[in-house]
Formats: sequence, structure tokens, C-alpha cells
Amino acid sequence: MSKEKPLKIIITDPVDTILLEKLRGNNFTVDYHPKINEEDLLNIIDQYDGIVVRSRTKVAKSLIDRGRNLKFVARAGVGLDGIDLVSLQERKINIIHAPEASTSSVAELTFALMLGSCRRLPELAAATRLGNFSKEVGTELSGKTLGLIGFGRIGYMVAEIARAFNMNILAYDIIANDRINKVSGRYVALNDLVQNSDFIGVFVTVKPGDKPILGKEEFAVSTKKPGIINTSRASAIDGPALLDALKSGVISFYASDVMWNEPPKTQWEHELLAHPQVTITPHIGAQTKEAQRRIAEATAAKIIEMFGGIR
Ligand code: NAD
Repeated sequence: MSKEKPLKIIITDPVDTILLEKLRGNNFTVDYHPKINEEDLLNIIDQYDGIVVRSRTKVAKSLIDRGRNLKFVARAGVGLDGIDLVSLQERKINIIHAPEASTSSVAELTFALMLGSCRRLPELAAATRLGNFSKEVGTELSGKTLGLIGFGRIGYMVAEIARAFNMNILAYDIIANDRINKVSGRYVALNDLVQNSDFIGVFVTVKPGDKPILGKEEFAVSTKKPGIINTSRASAIDGPALLDALKSGVISFYASDVMWNEPPKTQWEHELLAHPQVTITPHIGAQTKEAQRRIAEATAAKIIEMFGGIR
């Protein structure tokens, strides 16, 4: 960072204040505009060396083109959806994000979704609020098999928690990791996982254009009517095939934090959302105070490391 002229950064979405404090404390000039609209941002982006966004601000080609001084784009979060990575690469603009900072909050939400679906909490809590105290029989996690599709950061933490629930672990991943032994799990082929799991958790990374990992053919081999929990990306699953599997009882429930479109655009998405065995949360995996703070701290640390600071 030049001593005469500190880097000027604009933050265009709400972030934990520690991010502003750390950057300002390291001599960066920071303007905080968490509600700025697209047009206003386009008009001022050329004044900035860096921009920090969350999911509200889209970093499209038009913004990158107007940001002629941009040296970095930071996503104070995980996913890089909504950021035109090709345009950034062409301009050699750095991209910064904090994928490790929300692992525990997503892993905990996975269990909230799994336990909530097993005991039908959303539906029973809504009924008691209306004065209906009818009891329904649920299922336990203990002694059941959890199949993890994707055994990375979140998959591993989910497995650790699952062990405390006395669950057995199967995993399917394109890259094997020794940590499978720490949770007394084993890697299996995808079809074996689907066939032998009582619950299937989806924790994969998905690139644009990737084919769904779970679809009609995979659902066809399931024998245990598994419940599916997905806190990664909806496109890892073939949505219409999932709806068919739910309707025919091949799948016992679907609980997810992610949608194919937010809000839904297609008829099958609306049908899926309304299905009684489906629980969808509005992409709140990283929405805990603790995760937001870790994300802010990690984002600040990466910017400071890349561009210098007084520390
Ligand atoms: P990670 O990179 O640590 O792990 C992903 C794993 O998926 C890796 O082990 C990788 O080898 C595996 N994988 C990739 N493609 C695969 C395929 N085709 N088949 C099998 N395995 C495959 O990522 P992570 O931090 O554990 O995050 C997992 C997912 O959770 C990501 O999609 C991420 O975007 C999502 N996420 C969601 C939220 C949320 O708010 N719900 C928050 C954080 C992360």
C-alpha cells in the first residue's frame, strides 16, 4: 500500500462493524454504504481501489468495467455467485472471500433441519400455536446411517456432530481425506451411499454448468426412504426428480437452506416448497452473529495481508 495515498474501499452491503474497524485501523479509507443502489454505485465505483460485498450487491461486468481503479473485490462470505469472475480475471482484479468462516454455523443449521424434520417441528409448532396439541410420532437419529455427499469442511464437521448423536457415517467425495477415520466413517460409491443411508446430507461445491449429483437414477436405488438435508447448493440435486421422489414416498423428507431460484420461479419449485415433507430456510447458513464476525475478521485479515497495513 502506498504510504502517500491509502487504498480507498467501499463496502456496499451490511457487515459486522469489526470489518470497518480493522480496515480503518490499518490506514485504509473506508466508505460504508450498505444500502447503496446499483445506479449510484455505478456512478462512484471509479473512485475506489476495492469493493466489499455480500450477496445483495451483484458484481457484474458493467460494474467491473466502470471500476477502472479496482484492485480487488471481496465477498464477505462464502459463495461467489453474483460475481463475474471471468471479467475479474481478464482485468487481473483480485478476488477475496472467507469460505472457512461459516463452517460451524452451516453444520449446526444442518442438524436443526435434520432434527426438525425428524420430529416435524415446523408443522407441529405451527399447529400448537393454533391450539392443536395433537401428538405425532417422529424418528431418532441415534443408530442411523448418515451419508455425506461432499466430505469437505462442512461435511466433516457434520460428521463430528453426528458421531455425538451415535450415527454411522458414509461419505462420497471426488477427493478422499484421511479425516474419514476420525469419525469412524468410510468412503463408498454414490449408489451405495444412497442405498444404505437413512439420511443423506449434501455438502458439495457446485460450479456453473455442473450436472446434479442426485437425480432420478440415484433416487431409484434408495431402499431406506432417506431424508435429504441440503445446505450447500440446490443445483446439486435435480429438483423435478426430487419432487417425484417425495410424491412417491421414495424420499421421506427434504430439508434445505438453498433454492434453485430465490424466490422460486418455476411451477415445480412452488410445488416443492408447498409439499408437507419439505422444509426450506431462506439461505441462513452463515446468518449467526458468530459467523458474521468471523467472516468480517477473515475478510479484513485477507485484505490487509494482500495490500499491507499497519496491523
Ligand atoms: P469444501 O470445499 O470444504 O468441501 C466441498 C467438498 O465437496 C470437497 O471435499 C469436494 O471434493 C467435494 N466435491 C466437489 N464436487 C463434488 C462432486 N461432484 N461429487 C462429490 N464430491 C464433490 O466446501 P465447504 O466449505 O464444506 O462448503 C460446502 C458447500 O456449502 C458449498 O457449496 C458452499 O457454497 C456451501 N455453503 C453454504 C452456506 C449456506 O449459507 N447455506 C454457507 C457456507 C457454505
